[in-house]
Amino acid sequence: MSDVIKLMPDALANQIAAGEVIQRPASVLKELVENSVDAGASKITVNIKDAGRTLIQVIDNGCGMSVTDARMSFERHATSKLTKAEDLFCIYTKGFRGEALASIAAVAEVELKTRRADDAIGTDVIINGSKFISQTPVSTPQGTNFAIKSLFFNVPARRKFLKSNSTELQHIITEFQRIVLTHPMIEFALHHNDNIIYSLPKTNLKQRILGVFGKNLNSTLIPVEIDTSIVKITGFCGKPSPSKRKTDKQFFFVNNRYMKNSYFHKAVALAYDKLTLPDCIPPYFLYMEVDPHTIDVNVHPAKTEINFENASDIFRLLQAGIKETLSKSDVTPAIDFDNQAINDIPYFRSDSPLPEEPQISYDPDYNPFVSTEKPQSFSDGGGSRSKGSYNYKQSDYQPLRRSTDNWQTLYESALNGSTDDIKPAAAPTPLMQIGNKYIAALHDNGIMLIDQYRAHLRILYEKYLRQIASNADATQQLLYPQPLDLDATSLAMAYDIRDELMSVGFDIDFPSPTATATLRGIPPFLEQNKAIDVLIKVIDSYRDEHGNISSSMKDILARSAARSEAVMGGRSLSTEEMQTLKDDLLATQQPEFSPDGRKTTIVLRPDDLERMFN
Ligand code: ADP
Ligand code: MG
Repeated sequence: MSDVIKLMPDALANQIAAGEVIQRPASVLKELVENSVDAGASKITVNIKDAGRTLIQVIDNGCGMSVTDARMSFERHATSKLTKAEDLFCIYTKGFRGEALASIAAVAEVELKTRRADDAIGTDVIINGSKFISQTPVSTPQGTNFAIKSLFFNVPARRKFLKSNSTELQHIITEFQRIVLTHPMIEFALHHNDNIIYSLPKTNLKQRILGVFGKNLNSTLIPVEIDTSIVKITGFCGKPSPSKRKTDKQFFFVNNRYMKNSYFHKAVALAYDKLTLPDCIPPYFLYMEVDPHTIDVNVHPAKTEINFENASDIFRLLQAGIKETLSKSDVTPAIDFDNQAINDIPYFRSDSPLPEEPQISYDPDYNPFVSTEKPQSFSDGGGSRSKGSYNYKQSDYQPLRRSTDNWQTLYESALNGSTDDIKPAAAPTPLMQIGNKYIAALHDNGIMLIDQYRAHLRILYEKYLRQIASNADATQQLLYPQPLDLDATSLAMAYDIRDELMSVGFDIDFPSPTATATLRGIPPFLEQNKAIDVLIKVIDSYRDEHGNISSSMKDILARSAARSEAVMGGRSLSTEEMQTLKDDLLATQQPEFSPDGRKTTIVLRPDDLERMFN
């Protein structure tokens, strides 16, 4: 038998490599624009036609290429940027595999015009699907002009895999934003079908951010400067706002390269903890500089994840640094919850006279942490529910004795800062609100602390789930259809998932993927004035969880509706409201967790307290 192994033809190898590097028009844009940046351009113009299907053109005024280099640049592993393998690990330039142009040329029709400053005449190279067509002299301005036409013309599967024009355009815009945000000193322009999307003059970082995302960010950006031996972090973070709208203007860069990093995002989110809703962190633009030896820039150019040697240290520095930045810029509420618990106790108040020493008769045998009832766990406690309202099981809780009652009212009025207004406690079990965010209750031989926002989320979420289940795919038609004012990304996403949205009752009319859509019908259980807010949350969650099949659209809708409705931390609740919230929470299927899996409650038992007093 003869040998069977053959070398793959170059064209085929390039096409396969292209599958990794070039996934969509946006990848072409990224590679070409990064090359232009590397070529030292001070001005880069991008022209797109039909979301990149017809044309992706990148024109720069950089160093240009010689006649030979222009031809050579399309060879695989052709690069002027790598001289020794070791350099791979210390890369400051953008691309480094010498693979991009070969890959692009394998799956498109490419024309390159380029001229160096010292050359009188430039060169024009045409390559179609890895096939060299021609190279001729041409008169062209100094710099490089790449025109990529008919992307994936020879890979029908890829072409078919492309999403709607609006989605592909959105990817292009996102990629463009990531690059322009790292090079404010370069002038950029982006055109789509002869419309100007961006025209960005050379400027400083702050003005560049405003140029990309609009001047209304101006009032919110706070400069960040965290300088340590393992990482330097500069840039801007947004002032906390009570907004319930999610933002996607959150960017990390490392060594001036965009990266995705959900771990570091958590650090930022923690710094904003209690200042905003957990999933409504303000925009941020954070630039990290680290020793390139301490990161693993994934050699895969299409990937944006990067591994850090000092990840957990950076996490802590980031969290503490942002927190300090926020506190210095005086945007944090005067007292944050941790301190407020203390400050609210009147003994620390300097502005009010000391309350008269209360005369309390107390029962020396009484121990509030010893329950006379058998302990009951959350999941089975109060679980029974009678039609329409929740059943509060008195037996779950320690009944008050006279002396504690007294103590309770005194304590409550002390918290309210007055001693003369002593009312008997209305609740069957003492309830207190702490920092307008938490409810404290005696529970089961301990103290239960409830996060009021998360608890409310859980209650509403289960309620909506039931309503959706009983009304599956019904729609409530709107008398007056409303225009949907969505940003380009959300609109593209909504268009892509229109069938799924319909399946839960959102009837939306899309004249085209990019034109303004109209909301015609909404799920019956939603109030009309909340519907758009909920819809936006649904789209956002869907985008975040894309590919995670474990959450159904119904689940996402129930969660989004709950988020839009829930009482934020920061609101003061009446005793009755606290009581209802607590009872309703304990009556849910899963009282321990909010619908997104965070703790709703903490129980401190005597053991815990003993440990804490140690
Ligand atoms: P890499 O960027 O990894 O070197 P590419 O395939 O992207 O690989 O590019 C190959 C080479 O072509 C580059 O190293 C560079 O020398 C040259 N080149 C590409 N684009 C430009 C440009 N816009 N201006 C000047 N030279 C370029
Ligand atoms: Mg490159």
